[in-house]
Amino acid sequence: MIYTNVCKHCLKQYRSRIKSFSCDQCKNKDEDYFDKIVAYLKKYPNSNALQISDALGISAYQVLNYLKEGRLNYARGHFEQIGEAEEGSTGL
Ligand SMILES: [Zn+2]
Repeated sequence: MIYTNVCKHCLKQYRSRIKSFSCDQCKNKDEDYFDKIVAYLKKYPNSNALQISDALGISAYQVLNYLKEGRLNYARGHFEQIGEAEEGSTGL
């Protein structure tokens, strides 16, 4: 099964065997943003997506995308009000 994905960063279409959210070129950027968000949340655990986007220069839309991917699950308590309350979404 080959998926056609759309990179959330550059909006380029690309194909891969697993469903993913960023192309190879943008993956590094992706990890970088993710690390920054994690670091920020450690420092300011009660931040919401808008504060994160402000502080890191990442769009709130992208911050929310990380949430949708379930990658910030461990911080779920702080993001519950946003509305992604998927239990145990480890499905990557
Ligand atoms: Zn890309």
